[in-house]
Amino acid sequence: MQAVFDGHNDVLFRLWTNAAKGADPVAEFIEGTRQGHIDMPRARKGGLAGGLCAIYITSGDIGDDARDGNGHYAIPLSAPLERAPSLDIALDMASIAFRIERAGGWKICRNGADIDAAEAEGKFAAVLHMEGCEPIDADLAALEVFYAAGLRSLGPVWSRNTIFGHGVPFAFPSSPDTGPGLTEAGKRLVRECNRIGIAIDLAHITEKGFWDVARLSDKPLIVSHSNAHALTPISRNLTDKQLAAVRESNGLVGLNFAVTMLREDGAKSADTPLSDMVRHIDYMVEHVGIDGVALGSDFDGATIPAEIGDAAGLQKLVAALRNAGYGDADLAKICRDNWLRVLRSAWHEAAA
Ligand SMILES: [Zn+2]
Repeated sequence: MQAVFDGHNDVLFRLWTNAAKGADPVAEFIEGTRQGHIDMPRARKGGLAGGLCAIYITSGDIGDDARDGNGHYAIPLSAPLERAPSLDIALDMASIAFRIERAGGWKICRNGADIDAAEAEGKFAAVLHMEGCEPIDADLAALEVFYAAGLRSLGPVWSRNTIFGHGVPFAFPSSPDTGPGLTEAGKRLVRECNRIGIAIDLAHITEKGFWDVARLSDKPLIVSHSNAHALTPISRNLTDKQLAAVRESNGLVGLNFAVTMLREDGAKSADTPLSDMVRHIDYMVEHVGIDGVALGSDFDGATIPAEIGDAAGLQKLVAALRNAGYGDADLAKICRDNWLRVLRSAWHEAAA
């Protein structure tokens, strides 16, 4: 079985949501559930060895079912969030992550050696990520504390504006060039992440924000869960020019399993063939190279192809890629090693 280290999931958001309704998040993860996509039993079954687990503050229902007769939509950008309640939610989600660790459900990994050790122990290697920096202040004091707690990756924005930058709204078809990029505070955030060793994720940022980070950052560009705009022209996917910049930086793009980002028609239908996933991988390998394409499932955060179903179905994607001509060495890169390489670089552990 090919081990998978996956670049984006929202399991903490699902566990937090269910905890608010009275569920025990530790038991839900360790014992398993039929809900959502990731828990310990299903991760084992599918060869999911670890991944980036997002601390994510919800905007609630953003109305993503509003489409016209052609299946087109342009959902307005969600309103900015207040910092204090966002910080409370972030602390709640981080506490769930640490409670799972204390109960033996996974290991919170702070460096490459932690990930290797977790895998050797057969434990899920969880890396804490913050998807949208609403909990962080402009002076970056909270960043220092979250880093000390184990945060090793962040996106300055989700699809919302923050004090750090501008997010891209969900729209199909649409260019990713939907507004301004980084603010001055955002530039300070990028420099500080480079300095202390936090990966910077460009999923959800506007195209201008992408180029701002490309100019500023001295690390490989990472887009954890986005696909090829040429195949699925949603605002969240990357243009050929962006893919070329990722390649140029020795960076990485992770395949998002969200059907709305895989299908030619952008429809929200789980009846989406694995061939659509392979098509995006092929295209991105052609444009970024075999060392710059990985997985960023969006498990627990998106509607994914029914054929995959959940984390237990991951090897079906591996098999589809194998049938499409990817050999063992390529599969190891796409499924795991490329993520380890860029994370180690972001964490000052090795040259990219
Ligand atoms: Zn996302």
